[in-house]
Amino acid sequence: MDHHPFESEAGFAGLGLRAELLRALTNLGYEEPTPIQQEAIPPLVAGSDLVGQAATGTGKTAAFALPVLQGLIAGRSDVGPAALVLVPTRELAEQVSQAVHRYGRDLGVRVLPVYGGQPIGRQLQALQRGVDVVVGTPGRVLDHIERATLKLSDVRTVVLDEADEMLDMGFAEDIEAILAETPATRQTVLFSATMPPRIDSIARRHLRDPVRITMGRKAVAPGELPLVRQSAYVVARAHRSAALGRILDVEAPTAAIVFCRTREEVDQVTETLNGRGYRAEALHGGMSQDQRDRVMGRLRAGSTELLVATDVAARGLDVEQLTHVINFNVPSAPEAYVHRIGRVGRAGREGSAITLAEPREQRMLKAIERLTGQRITLEKLPTVTDLRARRLEVTRTSLQASLETDDLERFRVVLDSLTDEFDVENIALAAVKLLHEAAGGDREEDEIPTPVVPPEGRNAQNRDSRQGGRSSRGPDAGVARLFFGIGRRAGIRPQDLVGAIAGEAGLNSRDIGAIQITDRFSLVEVPEPAAEKVIAAMQRSTIRGRRPTVRRERFAR
Ligand code: AMP
Repeated sequence: MDHHPFESEAGFAGLGLRAELLRALTNLGYEEPTPIQQEAIPPLVAGSDLVGQAATGTGKTAAFALPVLQGLIAGRSDVGPAALVLVPTRELAEQVSQAVHRYGRDLGVRVLPVYGGQPIGRQLQALQRGVDVVVGTPGRVLDHIERATLKLSDVRTVVLDEADEMLDMGFAEDIEAILAETPATRQTVLFSATMPPRIDSIARRHLRDPVRITMGRKAVAPGELPLVRQSAYVVARAHRSAALGRILDVEAPTAAIVFCRTREEVDQVTETLNGRGYRAEALHGGMSQDQRDRVMGRLRAGSTELLVATDVAARGLDVEQLTHVINFNVPSAPEAYVHRIGRVGRAGREGSAITLAEPREQRMLKAIERLTGQRITLEKLPTVTDLRARRLEVTRTSLQASLETDDLERFRVVLDSLTDEFDVENIALAAVKLLHEAAGGDREEDEIPTPVVPPEGRNAQNRDSRQGGRSSRGPDAGVARLFFGIGRRAGIRPQDLVGAIAGEAGLNSRDIGAIQITDRFSLVEVPEPAAEKVIAAMQRSTIRGRRPTVRRERFAR
């Protein structure tokens, strides 16, 4: 057997996780724990309570899910769930339960997402059959408790995920009521992207001696960072591969590394890029040193232009000629980003660092900017027209290079045999067309949609929209989108919001743009110059007798 340079399970095994879970992680292609997992898993496995400051993209889901699963193996109950995860939105409920299912597949773990809007019958059946982990939004979980269809007396671990979002959406009371139904001996875990005093207060009241974890606090010294152009594209997960291909077409890197999170992703991206005509090679921790050396040799010799790698595999890798580092997704910690981009822009050479982020991951981009003190410019994906123009440019450049350097004499017979019948200019045009097509320049492409950026991808179906189309394109430049932590459940109608904003902040109601009202929150577009004034005014006033959180929408571009 090959000696593997990376003991792929070592990182996770060192955290005290059981063999069944380590196997699941290896199968998923996870090579090493992310920083938050590194810090959170050991105390959670040991049974401590924990408060973690971590945003989407840090690997926080596995950080709490793996210890929960480990606990299930240790002592399974046949009746009620042993773990309850509370999340703010239905999307997150689905995502987290899928993650728990994937990590716990070999263990036969029964996990159930419960959220409003889903037929309750199906949830009831599953609950009656028995579940190990319930992942739900507070409102629906409380419904089940009140109907006596969910019994929390066997719960050993409660996780509050994205606690700040849950509070902003008005779930504070529901959370308190749910916690009161769980045994006082439970383990409680709280993850939140921000730590406002209200979160601290929940932690103080409901957690016992929690371990505290904060990510990405150390600023980077200016000299540590290379001078590279840093940019990011926000794309939905489904379009990420297509977006990557398009960006590479336009950037035309001489040599680039594309960083992925898992081995699976490395293989999939390599395949996609090769299908697009690139010479891409995979580099991951499952390969032997020998294989790695060969790949590196081909990159140095220029017969490979793209390396697709995990962090582990790229460690210690030093390639002089790298022009681009591309992050296929936001790295799991700001520090990892700094590490990655350190590979370009060596010795005063120009370099680019490009990051693809899902709408939900934009907060991580901000955390990286804070750490580095440098800006990451949000770019628009190249359109089909941009691509066509770029490909024609590539064709032109290749022709120019050939005219300048190639010996073309031997093709003269072809030309001569055609000039009797055709015009030289037309012959040239036909040759250009053939070259262009041969280089894949006429490939059909569809436009990649700009993602709608709801705050944390909240339930799009719950939305009302005052001006239909406009709101779905995301705010225009010069328009700020404000989050109001109050929605349909509090009886809010568009006119209430317009009335409050116009009345309290002195805005003309015509200046108020699209309004979306969901069950628990609303989004209102106002002119950017007035945004701060509106926020300040709302802090002094009430809407339908309440004083909701009003702030800028976090995930707006
Ligand atoms: P989260 O921050 O929990 O939303 O996770 C972000 C993404 O990272 C998810 O797609 C996970 O599947 C992935 N992920 C989590 N932990 C790891 C790890 N240790 N190695 C590679 N990918 C991971």
